[in-house]
Amino acid sequence: MDFSLSDEQREIRDWVRTFVRKEVMPLEPEVLRRERAGQRGFTAEESRALQLKAKQAGFWGVLTPQEHGGMGLDAVTAALIEAELGRSFVPFYLGGKADNILFHANAEQQARYLVPTIAGDRKSCFAITEPGAGSDARNIRTTARKDGNEWVINGEKTFITGGNEADFVMVFAVTDKEKGADGGVTCFLADRDMGWKSEYIDTMGEWGPASLIFQDVRVPETQILGEEGRGFELAMQWIGQGRYLLPARAIGSCERLISMAIEHANTRETFGQKIAERQAIQWMIADSGVELEALRWLVLNAAWQVDQGMDSRHAQSMAKLYGGQKANEIVDRVLQIHGGMGYTRELPVERWYRELRLLRIYEGTDEIQRRTIARNLLKGHVKVGGALG
Ligand SMILES: Cc1cc2nc3c(=O)[nH]c(=O)nc-3n(C[C@H](O)[C@H](O)[C@H](O)COP(=O)(O)OP(=O)(O)OC[C@H]3O[C@@H](n4cnc5c(N)ncnc54)[C@H](O)[C@@H]3O)c2cc1C
Repeated sequence: MDFSLSDEQREIRDWVRTFVRKEVMPLEPEVLRRERAGQRGFTAEESRALQLKAKQAGFWGVLTPQEHGGMGLDAVTAALIEAELGRSFVPFYLGGKADNILFHANAEQQARYLVPTIAGDRKSCFAITEPGAGSDARNIRTTARKDGNEWVINGEKTFITGGNEADFVMVFAVTDKEKGADGGVTCFLADRDMGWKSEYIDTMGEWGPASLIFQDVRVPETQILGEEGRGFELAMQWIGQGRYLLPARAIGSCERLISMAIEHANTRETFGQKIAERQAIQWMIADSGVELEALRWLVLNAAWQVDQGMDSRHAQSMAKLYGGQKANEIVDRVLQIHGGMGYTRELPVERWYRELRLLRIYEGTDEIQRRTIARNLLKGHVKVGGALG
């Protein structure tokens, strides 16, 4: 069994690592300073400028197919890149990407939505969650009623990432109440100027999602993405597109955090000895190291299954669940090792502590991942012990 990276993967990883060290990490003090002054830490303009800098070196659209101007890389390499980006808390992503379901758009829609989204000229958001339907997404209540050659959308969406900044939304609405999620939910492309409103939601993180209000929002029937009634499948495709990428990013964050803890443990003295000499501290470092290693292999295995064209949902759920749990345990230990300093806003540890908490909630909570994993095992959809068991 070969666990090594190819030369190309190593080169790509090293390039991103250097880019993050030279271009992204130096921004950290200013990002922290702004956030602590209640401002946006990293603006859209700054993000774009950095994305274009990376583009000059060919880093654009990691998973975007080459015919759309992207790199068309494999999932394992995408996971390696994401881990490198996760080493910094600056919310930076490489440019050139678009939501996977936009590739289902027809030619006319592709020109208006997919192409400008990849170029970074338009911003999308994905809206299925509602105040009464989160984990239970099949239970959405937003409706779209046909009126001539238009659809009239009514309802409220909540916790929509980028909902305040987006200029169009992929919104999911019930078009046939009888059928519901089984053939009665449709996805619409709705521009902001078609009439939906957004409101920022303050969270414990440094950026907030938004609620979207649809009150008699009229969209032409040409705005249906995919087929009428097939929206729920599209929503599940969107959610499943890269579940492994969320814990992949946490790998980098945990690496950086554990390095900070090691440095602190090797310098901080109490009772005449470095705290690194204490078994209590050593065990926290040891457990964190083991869990980080296990997380890395769970993520890379899930990505590898994607590349093999296997049904990777079980592996992705395991990586997401383990990543959310362990990243939170690791950042908690790192905070503990830093003592009072870990709790202050002078260090970014508390920032990571707040941000990593989200990993246990969005795109399927811990409980929903466990539900999926348990169902697969109990019903025998997946062999106990996995592919090698
Ligand atoms: C910052 C942020 C960004 C988000 N971005 C988006 C976005 O871009 N687009 C979008 O559509 N949504 C988005 N979401 C919504 C997110 O996906 C939901 O919050 C999540 O799926 C949980 O739904 P809920 O909040 O309604 O919790 P609920 O579903 O009400 O769950 C409450 C609790 O009950 C548990 N629970 C629920 N059902 C079960 C069950 N069957 N068995 C055991 N436990 C259960 C849950 O795990 C949780 O602990 C975002 C959320 C946040 C916080």
